[in-house]
Amino acid sequence: METRNAKLELAQEAEGLETKSAQDVLKWALSEFGERIALASSFGAEDVVLIDMLAKIDPKARVFTLDTGRLPQETYEVMEKVREKYGTKIEVYFPETKSVEEMEEKDGPNLFYKSLDLRKLCCQVRKIEPLNRAFSDLDAWICGLRREQAVTRTVIKKVEIDKSHGSIVKVNALADWTEKQVWAYIKENTVPYNTLHDQNYPSIGCAPCTRAIEPGEDVRAGRWWWETPEQKECGLHSKKGEN
Ligand code: SF4
Repeated sequence: METRNAKLELAQEAEGLETKSAQDVLKWALSEFGERIALASSFGAEDVVLIDMLAKIDPKARVFTLDTGRLPQETYEVMEKVREKYGTKIEVYFPETKSVEEMEEKDGPNLFYKSLDLRKLCCQVRKIEPLNRAFSDLDAWICGLRREQAVTRTVIKKVEIDKSHGSIVKVNALADWTEKQVWAYIKENTVPYNTLHDQNYPSIGCAPCTRAIEPGEDVRAGRWWWETPEQKECGLHSKKGEN
C-alpha cells in the first residue's frame, strides 16, 4: 500500500508535465524510474517515434515487445530495422509454450474466429500472460496512446496510475499528439516504420486479426473486424481492454 501511495503522489506531482514536450516527459520518466521503466512496443507509428526519442535521450532505455507468434512479417521487419538503426536491445516476451500447445491442440490454430471466448483466450495466452510477466520487474511503463485515437482515450493523462495493472505508473508521452505530428516526426527523423501503414493499416496487431481499412472507416475498424466495437478487447490498456 505504501508503494502504491508513493506512486500516486509521484503521479500527482507529475501533473506539471501535462504542458511539457514528449521528450521532457520521457526524460522525467527515465530519471524517476531508471531501469524500472520500459516502453511497451508493438512497433506501430507512435511506438517508433518513442523509440527514436528514447534512443536519443538514453540509448540504454528499456524497450520490450510481446511476440505473440502471429505477428505480420512487416512487424518483424521494422523490429530488425530498429535494432540496426539504434542498436536497441528489444526485450522479447513470448507466450508460454505449453499453454499455446494445449490451446491449439484443443481449439485449433485459428480459434479466434470461432467465438469471442476463444478469441479472448488466445489474447490471454499470447498477450496478457506475457505482458504480466514483463510488468513483474517494472514500476512504470511507457506506451504510445494518443487522446485522439478513440473516445475511450480522450481522458488519458501524460502520467497516470494504471489501475488495470496493479497500479503501475503509465506514461503516455504522446497523449496530446495528432496523427499528423506523428508522421511529421517519422519523416523528419527518418524513423523506420511498419510498411503496412502505407497499405491502409493504421492500427496493427496480429496478422490473422488485422486487416486494412476502407476510406472513412474508424482507425481501429481493421482490428478483430468480425466483432462488434464493444467486443474489441484484449486487456492491454484497460480491464475491458484495447489494443
Ligand atoms: Fe490471438 Fe488474434 Fe489476440 Fe493475436 S490478436 S493474440 S492472434 S486473438
